[in-house]
Amino acid sequence: MSVCMGSTTTTKKPTTTARSRAVLRDVEPGSTVECAHCGERVKFQAKVRHKQVICNVYERGKWVRVEHFHADCYEAAGEPHGDVDTTPVVKARRTPAAAAPTLETRTA
Ligand SMILES: [Zn+2]
Repeated sequence: MSVCMGSTTTTKKPTTTARSRAVLRDVEPGSTVECAHCGERVKFQAKVRHKQVICNVYERGKWVRVEHFHADCYEAAGEPHGDVDTTPVVKARRTPAAAAPTLETRTA
């Protein structure tokens, strides 16, 4: 049995470590950033609870800048930095392990 492997060489792309990505976040109070699409301030408004899209922009594998968009503007701009990661931030909770030592009461 002879299998010709010559023509089907799979060109392996180098695993891109860093590429632009976009995440959806709440607008923080005191935010002074401007939307990269419409140029308006991405304002925090307690009543409205705006969402913003924060993009880490990479060029040729190197981080160059952060861009902020209004959530709507990012869509309007045609999602220039790819799909928005809408996974909410999980804040790392510190387990007070040291504060509560487990007491093992043993009856010998
Ligand atoms: Zn905007």
